[in-house]
Amino acid sequence: MTLLRSWVDSANSATTPFPLNNLPYGVFSLSDGPETCGVAIGDMILDLAAVEGMGLIDLKDGPYLDAPDWNDLMGAGPAVWAALRARLLDLLAVGADAQKALRSHLVPQTAVRLHLPITVSEFTDFYAGKHHAMNVGTLFRGPQNALPPNWLHIPIGYNGRASSVVVSGTDIVRPNGQTKAPDATMPCFGPSQRLDIELELGAVIGGYNDLGTPISVHEADDMIFGYVLLNDWSARDIQAWEYQPLGPFQGKAFATSISPWIVTKAALEPFRISTPEREVELLPYLHEPGPMLYDIELAVTMAPEGKGPTTIARTNYSWMYYSAAQQLAHHASSGCAMNVGDLIGSGTISGPKRSECGSLLELTRGGAAPLTLDTGETRIFIEDGDTLTLEGAAIGEGYRIGFGTCTGTIRPAKTFPAQG
Ligand code: CA
Repeated sequence: MTLLRSWVDSANSATTPFPLNNLPYGVFSLSDGPETCGVAIGDMILDLAAVEGMGLIDLKDGPYLDAPDWNDLMGAGPAVWAALRARLLDLLAVGADAQKALRSHLVPQTAVRLHLPITVSEFTDFYAGKHHAMNVGTLFRGPQNALPPNWLHIPIGYNGRASSVVVSGTDIVRPNGQTKAPDATMPCFGPSQRLDIELELGAVIGGYNDLGTPISVHEADDMIFGYVLLNDWSARDIQAWEYQPLGPFQGKAFATSISPWIVTKAALEPFRISTPEREVELLPYLHEPGPMLYDIELAVTMAPEGKGPTTIARTNYSWMYYSAAQQLAHHASSGCAMNVGDLIGSGTISGPKRSECGSLLELTRGGAAPLTLDTGETRIFIEDGDTLTLEGAAIGEGYRIGFGTCTGTIRPAKTFPAQG
């Protein structure tokens, strides 16, 4: 695969995140106009509601695209997904007849507001990166007990909150919570002092299984519509005090940010790779029929208020031990019904080196080794006013499949209401 050329000039460069090869889907609005579906091409967005309204997109059982989210289109299934992508590849290719009619429906990305691309049905977050699990387990329980005994057999997860999933650019209010210092006799309540990120990829689910009906890993992969960058903001001090025995609760319930563009599985197809060799054989229901991970380069930057960003980590999605398809199949294995609009967090993506870690907890070794930013400032965890940004792209020959950015700025904790 090489760069596919478009009549939208800005899409024809090796550095744009959004060449014709990509065609990521989002939801945008202009000033006080309605929220509607669009596709990114170069530095522009094509208004898909308008194009569908003109009859230039005509999908089975449509229309779908004059909508404030992609859920209806996702629920239409893989044949409709493929038909839309094929049509957009035609309409936007260099020399396309429709060029003249479409030009007035191109909007500069700088002129729009981007919204959550899906209505999130439910959010589940996994813990499926082995380096992350080892690093965090060592910090919390020591190297002997770092990896729980179930870890190499089960993609471990917990049910998170859809209500606190926000689009990139949304400010994040520092959470209050209950914490207890190791040497304290009593817990206390107040703003988290150990606020962190988790660099993850989110799988966007476009299919469903009936309650009581499990699915294979192959069927699970067919249900995945695409992927977004996902920051699972985490309050480590709240998490450390609350997490046993039922796992994370308030330490992660306050916010999850996702990037505004859904990069489709179709765009990522040339970048498929296999999960790492199994250290112990998985049970048959988790066997993968083919490569289910993707080679996606990822980075994290941190910028203190009013200052420039420092890249604090670089890693790759291919470090995951379990794929999103395995996670989804495991999720449904009990008979749990999965739905259109479900969001599945991969778990923190960390590589073996310190500079490849997807959380500050790991990058600073639990706070023992502060980071020095390019501004000269140091950080253990996130301070008010800091902006954290995730970036990602699959790198092809002369083109890239970019995810855009997933960014958020931390605002001070709210004062807790007085009793009575
Ligand atoms: Ca997480």
